Amino acid sequence: MATRITVQNINGGRLRHVVVPVRFTRAVSGGPDITAPDPDDRGHVMPIPDNWVPTTARGFSFGLTVGESARIRVERVDIDPSAPLAVRLRIGTPHQIQLTRPAGGGALPADGIIELRGIVDQAAQFGTKGTVIEVRLGSLEGPVLAEAEAHVLTPLTLNVAAHIHTLHPESGPPGSGTKPTHNGAPLDLDRLFELVNAIYRPAGVRIRLAKRFERENFDFNADDTPFLAGRGRKGTENDVMKSFFVPNHCNVHFVRFMDGSGGVGIRRDQVGIDGIEQSGILSMMEGIRDFGTGRIFRLYLDPDSKFQLLTVLLAHEIGHFLELIHVTDKNVPGRVDTFSRRQIMHPNTLVSADPTNPRDRPRLPDAGYGSADSDIRGKIEPVPLGGHLLTLKKYAVRPGDGEVAIARARARQPNAVLY
Ligand SMILES: [Zn+2]
Repeated sequence: MATRITVQNINGGRLRHVVVPVRFTRAVSGGPDITAPDPDDRGHVMPIPDNWVPTTARGFSFGLTVGESARIRVERVDIDPSAPLAVRLRIGTPHQIQLTRPAGGGALPADGIIELRGIVDQAAQFGTKGTVIEVRLGSLEGPVLAEAEAHVLTPLTLNVAAHIHTLHPESGPPGSGTKPTHNGAPLDLDRLFELVNAIYRPAGVRIRLAKRFERENFDFNADDTPFLAGRGRKGTENDVMKSFFVPNHCNVHFVRFMDGSGGVGIRRDQVGIDGIEQSGILSMMEGIRDFGTGRIFRLYLDPDSKFQLLTVLLAHEIGHFLELIHVTDKNVPGRVDTFSRRQIMHPNTLVSADPTNPRDRPRLPDAGYGSADSDIRGKIEPVPLGGHLLTLKKYAVRPGDGEVAIARARARQPNAVLY
């Protein structure tokens, strides 16, 4: 079959076009999967964070942890379905990754999924050269159609101390408060952190639920919702966050409802700003309360979608704790391009499908992570879920980019004064 490609060069050829017959994508769609990292598929150059060892790969990058395996899909974008493709490694020094499917290299499996194993941190030795994954046309010696870098990272552990809070109203007797639940059942923190852990694994960070506590806070105005610090009322988010603190841990505080937001994540150098006196995370488990209207934004989700939503919310706040800022430093409504919405640091986890809401224009489709039923304006409707990508590349034009490197630096010393 003959193929004709028309390429326009604008500005006297300064804008160069790259034809992409095949590309790398996530091996699965939907919720977090520890074996299926999200590729950083912006552009074909490899702008890397400071002190990272470069590779010669032109193409995508995704994170792989030493000693672990991950799957990635080779997608045929603009090539015959029957065109034979082969996958191999262009070996760096030392060998940082191993191709386990097709083992040692060979024909691309029919489902397009390849598997790799991390062997050595890419920055382990001076003089390291990164390994490049190649997709070639026809055979292992055919022309290269696509390249990617699996950036191999030494595992780091971020220990979490989880605090489940019962808030007692000042007018009520002790024991009258209500504990946060998952649909009336006890919080399944093991499952929640298993999914959060899956999101951070491509950054080589293991989120470990090291300690858990049942806590009681007295003298709050409401029995299930702390107020924002600025409301001038008793029982604020700050009161919860400073009530218990375990050193050298990421302290995560769970409450039933929050005051107008889904979560708060405070990094160490934000302490003392906006009335927050302790680093850590506050996360709602049941919904968001609007004290102005009295409405509660509840999560009417099937259990899987609900866990996915709570997971993304919590992972986003852990991102803030690990120094990450909103995508290109834009707050609500944030950027609306598909790539930005795939990032865990996009400010909106749930994207309302309401075309009349200026926060949601233009209407945003599912960006690959599914959707969930939620009650946003008093009626239940499906809305797209945000993604959980952490960026590896570092584009100078995007503030806060190179998220994996930033998060890893903070994960090593979660509450130390670094600045
Ligand atoms: Zn945020």
